[in-house]
Amino acid sequence: MSNTLFEKIAAREIPATIVYEDSQILAIRDINPQAPSHILIFPKKPISRIADAGPEEAGLLGHLLLKAAEIAKKEGLAAEGYRIVINNGPHGGETVPHLHVHVLGGRRMQWPPG
Ligand code: AMP
Repeated sequence: MSNTLFEKIAAREIPATIVYEDSQILAIRDINPQAPSHILIFPKKPISRIADAGPEEAGLLGHLLLKAAEIAKKEGLAAEGYRIVINNGPHGGETVPHLHVHVLGGRRMQWPPG
């Protein structure tokens, strides 16, 4: 049995709308979207959070980030722009302890974030 929510989604134990998958990562639509396009991209390997990633994960993290930009482009977000977010720990707003990147687009974002 899988442990984290995103492991369960990767194992098809919990349904999700998958927008991209390869041997290392999965991209799904967020269940509670905060923008017209809101996609979560995570490694299948359950790294808890960015603060827990070591140098051995550099290749995986680079792959994750480059795919985030590629997926944003496929979503039609490249021309107007979009935001990539990683929430780390309680003050960062992290609720799922399995490292993931948010890609948000389709509306103008505010800065600083609330
Ligand atoms: P974070 O707050 O950065 O940990 O992000 C977790 C994200 O996962 C939130 O934006 C949630 O809306 C999203 N989420 C929670 N459960 C699911 C689910 N079953 N399928 C898709 N997204 C989910």
